[in-house]
Amino acid sequence: MKENSIDSSTAIFNERCREHNLKITPQRAAIYRELLKAKDHPSADMLYKRVKKRVPNISFDTVYRTLLSFSEIGLTDVVEGYGEPKRFDPNTYVHHHFRCMKCGKIKDLKIALKEDIEIPEEIRKDIIVIRKRIIIEGFCKDCKIR
Ligand SMILES: [Zn+2]
Ligand SMILES: [Zn+2]
Repeated sequence: MKENSIDSSTAIFNERCREHNLKITPQRAAIYRELLKAKDHPSADMLYKRVKKRVPNISFDTVYRTLLSFSEIGLTDVVEGYGEPKRFDPNTYVHHHFRCMKCGKIKDLKIALKEDIEIPEEIRKDIIVIRKRIIIEGFCKDCKIR
């Protein structure tokens, strides 16, 4: 993300909230700001702890529900998980992830897929494809040496 992207993201935030009749409250704005800064695909709990430093009276429930609202209006993505706590991603553009199977770290993978993933017709007829993402799983450099 570029340095000036925070400003344009605030504009996007205001616009999306207005479009979807989500009231812009100081708490929601604080949650969004903290989410935007996050590079680690935080869970609601991780974000709650960060937002709480700025907004001490905020509750976990507010943070969690707000993140779900954000994901409904396209302000955040939810990273694919396997029954783990949801992880949120401020980068809503198509990109791929590496997930450490030991510590749960999720990192963006800066790879461009050369070819689009073909979904066979027999599968496509039963589902609606919204996006295609790749998750590479394994051990991060901190975990592999242990
Ligand atoms: Zn790890
Ligand atoms: Zn990501």
